[in-house]
Formats: sequence, C-alpha cells, structure tokens
Amino acid sequence: MQEDTISAVATAVGDGGIGVIRLSGKNAVEIAAALFQSAKEKNISGGMGGHLYYGHIIDPEKGFIVDEVVLIVMKEPHSYTREDVVEIQCHGGPVVLRQILALTLRYGARLAEPGEFTKRAFLNGRLDLTQAEAVIDIIRAKTDASLRMAVGHLQGELALKIRGLREQILGMIAQLEATIDFPEENIEELSVENVRFSLQIIAQEIQRLLATSSAGRILRDGLQTVIIGKPNVGKSSLLNALLRENRAIVTDIPGTTRDSIEEFVNIRGIPLRIVDTAGIRETSDAVEKIGVDRSRTFAETADLVLLLLDASQPLTQEDLQVLDLLAEQKAIILINKSDLPEQLSRAELTAQVGKRQVITISVAAGTGLDVLEQSIVDMVYAGQVSASDGAVVNNVRQEEILRQAAQNLTDAQNTIEAGLPVDFQVIDLRAAWEKLGEISGETVNEDIIDEIFSRFCIGK
Ligand code: GDP
Repeated sequence: MQEDTISAVATAVGDGGIGVIRLSGKNAVEIAAALFQSAKEKNISGGMGGHLYYGHIIDPEKGFIVDEVVLIVMKEPHSYTREDVVEIQCHGGPVVLRQILALTLRYGARLAEPGEFTKRAFLNGRLDLTQAEAVIDIIRAKTDASLRMAVGHLQGELALKIRGLREQILGMIAQLEATIDFPEENIEELSVENVRFSLQIIAQEIQRLLATSSAGRILRDGLQTVIIGKPNVGKSSLLNALLRENRAIVTDIPGTTRDSIEEFVNIRGIPLRIVDTAGIRETSDAVEKIGVDRSRTFAETADLVLLLLDASQPLTQEDLQVLDLLAEQKAIILINKSDLPEQLSRAELTAQVGKRQVITISVAAGTGLDVLEQSIVDMVYAGQVSASDGAVVNNVRQEEILRQAAQNLTDAQNTIEAGLPVDFQVIDLRAAWEKLGEISGETVNEDIIDEIFSRFCIGK
C-alpha cells in the first residue's frame, strides 16, 4: 500500500442526486472515522470492510453537520485500488462535495492526481495497462459498440491475447536456449524448424490484431467527419437528419467557443464525430463557397468526407475541382435532392468519381440515408473486425508496440533464413517478448505509465 492516502471527488461536477468522495490509502478509514458520526454509533474502523454505514459528516472543529451520508468501507485488498478505500456518498452539490473534500484533506489526505486511483489499481496489480486504459474508454464511450469494446478490454480480452503470444515466444526462446546448452546437431535443426513455424503463426496473429486498430480507434475516438458542398445543397438538412435519427452525444470542451462543440452521431454503433467546420448549422452566414482550399484542408484532416451534390443542378467547375482533390477512400459522394427533376449529368460525374462510392439520397424525402449508413459501417469495419470481439487494438500506443514486436519477429525470421546461430534468434525473440509486455504494462517504464494516467480525470 502507498504511504499516503489520497482523496478526490469521484462524481461529475454540478448538481446531482448523490456525489461521491473517494479516499484510498493507509489512513482512509481513520480519516473517514474522524469526520463521520454514525447514526447507530457504529465504529467504522473496527469492521471487516465491505459494509455500509449511515450517518453524518461533521466538521469536528466547528461541530456542525456538513451532510447526511452513507459510507462504504472497503478493506484492502478488496477494493478498486487494493488499498483501504472509503467512499463517502453525500448529496451531489458542488458546495457540499467541496466541503467534505476539504475536511478529508485537513485530516490527513492528499488531493489525488488525475487517474491516481486507477494508477494505484495498476501498481497494486489489480489491473494491467490495457484494463486501466479501458477504464477511461468506458467513461468516454460514445456508442454501445464503443462501450462493448472497452468493456472487453476491461475484462482483459486483449491482455489475454497478448499474454498468450508472450508465452509462445517464451516457449520458443526456451527451446532455442536448450539447443545452445546441448548442441547436438539434430535437436537444433528440429528446434529451428519448430520456431520457424511458430513465428509465422504469431506474426499472423499480430497482423490480425493490427488490422483491428483502425476500427478500434474509430470506435474509441469517433470517425472524424465533415460534410461539404455548395450553399443550399442540403448540408445542414443532412446533419439535422443524422442527428435526429441517431441519438447523439454532445460534449462541450470547456474554455473554447462554438468551434469546439463536438457532436457524436451514432451510426449503427459507430460514433461519427461531426465537425462543424463549415459552420453549416449557422443559418445566416452560410452563403459561402465550398472553397477548394477549405475542402483540401478538410480532406487532409478528416477520416471521412461527405461531399454533397445537388441532383437538381448541373455540376459546376468547382464541384469537379473538389471531386478531384478528395482522396478516394475517404470520400462518399452524395447526390441529394433526388426527389427533384434531375439536372446533374451522371455521365459527367461518373467520369470523375473513379472508385468512390456515389449514393443518391433525398434528405427531404428521407431516402437513401440507410444506404449511406451501411456504407459507413462497411467502410469502418472493412470486413476486419466485429465490435463484439474484445481483442481489438484501439490506441496508438498499443498499435506502435505491435508494429515493433512484429519487426522483431521478422528479424528473427531473417536470422533463421540467413542460417545465423540461434543466439541471434534468441536476441530478436527476447526483444519481441519485452516489447509485447509494454502493452499490458509488465515491461513498461514509469514515464509512459505517468503519461497514460495523466489523461484521466481527477477522482478516477
Ligand atoms: P446547406 O446550405 O447546404 O446547409 O443547405 P440546407 O440544408 O440549408 O438546405 C437548403 C435548402 O434545400 C432548404 O430549403 C432545404 O429544405 C432544401 N433541401 C435539403 N435537402 C433537400 C432534398 O433532399 N430535396 C429537396 N427538394 N430539398 C432539399
């Protein structure tokens, strides 16, 4: 157990039915006991843990009641952090939470750093790093599918897979080292042959995991999407239709203006993070041109560009220019207003679109949107993963480690092909084994751990 006891408000700021202050560490129970007056005169220090106590938080110096509370006392190792933990459930107002927090600090606790509870859970071996990362992913999950993936990680599905790979690599190392110790010719040949075979299987498995990373990241962070098109082509109508039909989560980022409003549209489990860069929701000043330069910037930064064209208007030079610069894989071309008589020349369009998908829609009539949704789903998963599979890579850190481990394995393969002594293969295999350990946090250094937990919120 860490020496110091930490304390923080664990619930969101603002008015709430209940609020929770969480204490963790050696003196958690003692600090809570100093502030708590049990309604039934129960002693919280003596109990076994795993109990609820009803009573009041008192300011011991001033002698007044701060709030009516329920205490949950958990004794190590049976808690989130594996330390003694006390959760004080009070009413969920900012003032009461602040007062109780201040009392815990006055009576010996230290304010927790962001993610410090989860960091302690990790350091005390309750969670590995993939599970700790999953905690924040669960909190920030945008859709059911993102949640399912994060929960899969919390259950250790990715960790299990990685552990399996590491064990296999360790097995190969042991086999090769045995041949170093007992260098009889035939054993070595046999071992190298075995290793060559196992290497292929592990390399394939790593490639399979890497293939999940693009969908995994989208499920976690959202598919950054922009809608572009000439004025009046139906951009805001489309955005509104998507928002209306699909429950959205709007998150405000404090300290920024209108620009920073992110709207997440849930497209069959895929969170589309719609960036309102074009100001398309503002009715007044929306009469701006597509702007070839602007479109270029969007195309560079977005994961997906939805280019709207108007079926009832001929294609313009600018439409063609924009079509030209949008990267093939990232753009879906939508021909809107298909309920009106068609003026747009399909032949001219076909000549320009190449392999990009063209979908005919009418936002007004509500047609074609289901086709658009399905094509987004197909694009994201690209036949690679199903969201129900928890062994999905979903952040850059994991991806980078896997790439490096894959390289180590390729090096090992090359040393075999080059007929080099087994010592060389052992070096490469050890490197891969160590690298993979960084995913679960077994071989990771402290800076990386600090960096990961600093992204958490305080109280988690
Ligand atoms: P924006 O300037 O691209 O955001 O376009 P708006 O969404 O404001 O739409 C411009 C006009 O086109 C509005 O009057 C919409 O009602 C109309 N509109 C949008 N989609 C359709 C459609 O599918 N069919 C028809 N007939 N009108 C549409």
